[in-house]
Amino acid sequence: MRIDLHTHSDVSDGTLTPAELVRAAAGSGIEVLGLTDHDTAAGWAAAEAEALATGVTLVRGMEISTRHAGRPVHLLGYLVDPTYPPLVAALGKILDGRNARVPAILERLRALGIAIDVADVRRVAPNARATGRPHIADALVDLGVVGHRDVAFRDLLNPGRPAYVERYAASLEEMVGLVVAAGGVAVVAHPWGRSDPASLQADGLARLQSLGLAGVEVDHQDHSPADRERLRAIARELGLVVTGASDFHGEGKIDHDLGCHTTSPEDLDALLTLAAESGRAAGRMTPQVVRP
Ligand code: AMP
Ligand code: ZN
Ligand code: FE
Ligand code: FE
Repeated sequence: MRIDLHTHSDVSDGTLTPAELVRAAAGSGIEVLGLTDHDTAAGWAAAEAEALATGVTLVRGMEISTRHAGRPVHLLGYLVDPTYPPLVAALGKILDGRNARVPAILERLRALGIAIDVADVRRVAPNARATGRPHIADALVDLGVVGHRDVAFRDLLNPGRPAYVERYAASLEEMVGLVVAAGGVAVVAHPWGRSDPASLQADGLARLQSLGLAGVEVDHQDHSPADRERLRAIARELGLVVTGASDFHGEGKIDHDLGCHTTSPEDLDALLTLAAESGRAAGRMTPQVVRP
C-alpha cells in the first residue's frame, strides 16, 4: 500500500487544485493521500469529493507554521475539527501574518530594481487562501525575472537573501496542544530539514510528546539518508509514530514527486488509532478518513 501523508494544493502553495492533486495521486498509485495545505482546511471539501470519485483514501490535515527555539518549524495536524474556534483564530493570525509581509517583500524587490506589485502576485495565486514567498517566486517567474521558483528562493527570498522578511508564526508547543484540543493528531514535519535540529533532538521531541505530539515525519527529501536513520531510531525509542511523505507541491518544488517517500500501513494505523482517541477525548466532531 502506498501512503503519502503530506502534500499541497493551490489553496496554499502547490500548483494543482485539490481535485487535480487527488487525481494525480490516483494516477501515481497512491492509495492513501494526506492533504496538508499550509495553515488552512480550505481544500478539504473539493479533495473529499474527488477522493470519493477516484477511490483514493483521503486523510485531511494541514501544515501549521510554528516557531520553536527561534526557528521556523512546520507541524502537521491531521483530522482536526476545522471549526474549533481557538484553532480558527490561531490559523487566522498566521494567514494574516503571511499576507501582511507581502508588501514588505515587494518593497525590497523594488529596491533591487525589480518592477513587481501585489497584482502580479495575486494573478499567479488565484485560489490561495494567503500569499507567501512561493507565490512571489511564481510572480517573479511569470515576469521573467527568474527561471524557476527555486531560483527565486535561493537568490532573493531565503533567510539571508536581500528580499527576506520575517513573519508571524505560532509557538510549536501551543500548536501541538491546540491540534490535540481540536481532536486531531500532531506530527512534526521534516524536523531536521530547514529548522535547527538542536532543539528537536530526543529530549526536545520527548518534551513535545509530553504535550501530545503523536509522530515525527522521518522520511522526507530535506533529510539526508543518515539523518533519517538517526531520527527513526529516536522516534522508535520514544514510541512516536514514524511517517514518510513527498511534500508534493506540483510544479512548485523540484524533487518532491508524489510517493517519493511513504508511510507504512502499521504507522498509519497507529496514527489513526491516536486520532480516534484524540477526537473522543476532545469531544469534538472531527473529520473521518474518507474511504471510498
Ligand atoms: P512562506 O510560508 O511564505 O515563508 O514560504 C515558505 C514555503 O515556501 C515553504 O513551506 C515551502 O513550501 C516553500 N519553499 C521554501 N523553499 C523553497 C524552494 N527552494 N523552492 C520551492 N518552494 C520553497
Ligand atoms: Zn509549501
Ligand atoms: Fe513544510
Ligand atoms: Fe509542506
